[in-house]
Amino acid sequence: MHQDIDKILLSQEEIELKSAELARQLKVDYEDKQPILLGLLKGSTMFMADLMKHLDIDLQIDFMDVSSYHGTSSTGDVKIVKDLDLSVRGRHVLIAEDIVDTGRTLEKVIELLKHRGAITVEMVTMLDKPEARIAPITAKYIGFTIPKAFVVGYGLDYNEKYRNLPYIGILKQAVYLENE
Ligand code: 5GP
Repeated sequence: MHQDIDKILLSQEEIELKSAELARQLKVDYEDKQPILLGLLKGSTMFMADLMKHLDIDLQIDFMDVSSYHGTSSTGDVKIVKDLDLSVRGRHVLIAEDIVDTGRTLEKVIELLKHRGAITVEMVTMLDKPEARIAPITAKYIGFTIPKAFVVGYGLDYNEKYRNLPYIGILKQAVYLENE
């Protein structure tokens, strides 16, 4: 275990089993739909790779990078840092997320994709933190529901570190205090 991690919340094995299970559900629902599997950078990268490996249906993948600036008014407006390359018009879009927290980023992305003509927009997330929700967003496919703690690993970062950990863990408090 990494020295900065206080506790492992979900092991590599638990995560791998769950992504295979989610892919099995998605296969049933998307077999005939040729969906666009859309990853939101950078947190979703490991989850995207795991899902793709197990999802043996015709699909295309794409990525989007959005940054939210909640500012003082907390409007949750998002800025597109990198847009998709594919057109979503007439397509079924499945957004892959690492974690749904307030839901504000996803709310804006879904709105944009529907505005651009996507037929359906659904979400698959490895982690869900419902206690932190502000926007009325519910992912159709959820790996694990977790309490309102700050987690890292499996794509999730703190100051761009820890994304490469193969498990999901809780950071030691000392790491935050050092950076304050
Ligand atoms: P929201 O749902 O609040 O719009 O934003 C979701 C994004 O916030 C996630 O994609 C992730 O980048 C970040 N985030 C939310 N909760 C956590 C957490 O517990 N750990 C980390 N590392 N990032 C988080």
